[in-house]
Amino acid sequence: MPQLGFGVWQVPDAEATPAVTEALQAGYRSIDTAAAYGNEGGVGAAIAQSDVDRSDVFVTTKLWNADHGHDSALRAFDASQSKLGLDVVDLYLIHWPTPARDLYVDTWKAFVELREEGRVRAIGVSNFQPAHLQRLIDETGVVPAVNQVELHPYLQQAELRAFHEKHGIHTEAWSPLGQGGELLEDPVVTEIAARHDRSAAQVVLRWHLQIGNIVIPKSVTPARIRENIDVFGFELADEEIAALSTLDRGGRIGPNPDEFN
Ligand code: NAD
Repeated sequence: MPQLGFGVWQVPDAEATPAVTEALQAGYRSIDTAAAYGNEGGVGAAIAQSDVDRSDVFVTTKLWNADHGHDSALRAFDASQSKLGLDVVDLYLIHWPTPARDLYVDTWKAFVELREEGRVRAIGVSNFQPAHLQRLIDETGVVPAVNQVELHPYLQQAELRAFHEKHGIHTEAWSPLGQGGELLEDPVVTEIAARHDRSAAQVVLRWHLQIGNIVIPKSVTPARIRENIDVFGFELADEEIAALSTLDRGGRIGPNPDEFN
């Protein structure tokens, strides 16, 4: 899985095709969609139309909350696969644990079957807290390849990252730019950006890459799509990483996974 990919949350289906086309032309080789985004069709169309070989693109999609449960999960996967127009999905994630439904272990067993049948190459989760991960491991013995969680300098998820490291789970950061708000105007970020003659977004993405996170920044603006992947020609110094790491304030933009259903 490429460490940097392209996210398409809140991109309408019709706009997903030109946005993903632009991203593939800019060099992205990993696309993050979800059944709930309503744009798997547009994403699939862009991949089908592209000159880039299907085998060179890593496609992630996710199972929505209403589709939890063993049989529902298998049906939801059929629908996603058909909309994407792909024989094999590279990574399939449980979008949220929705603990009140208490079905994520059954869903996970269906995911294991999909992987054993070769319909998905890897299986993982999203928005899982340590207790949810531990339960999957205890009850199925199958460790998720990835946990995709909200993570940016204002929400650094130290406890979760330590859990991932202990169990060999890859950390994938959603809203890696903090959705482009206040974070990109934070003086700690903008001062480092000025020093490197780079944008604030590029500095935040470098921070993620250098601490080992997978990132999937989103933009539909061609110049930003290109800017966000142009982050391999410079490096932050250890003290710059350390300065960015002081910004943690534990503040979520999105819902609390323990409560979201
Ligand atoms: P993000 O942190 O990627 O921020 C995107 C926003 O930042 C853009 O809409 C734009 O306003 C701004 N932006 C982007 N590039 C910029 C640049 N170079 N300069 C200035 N501003 C810029 O936020 P996101 O879209 O919430 O997250 C990225 C991806 O993560 C999503 O598209 C989706 O694929 C995934 N995601 C997953 C979950 C989940 O529950 N698993 C939740 C949210 C997002």
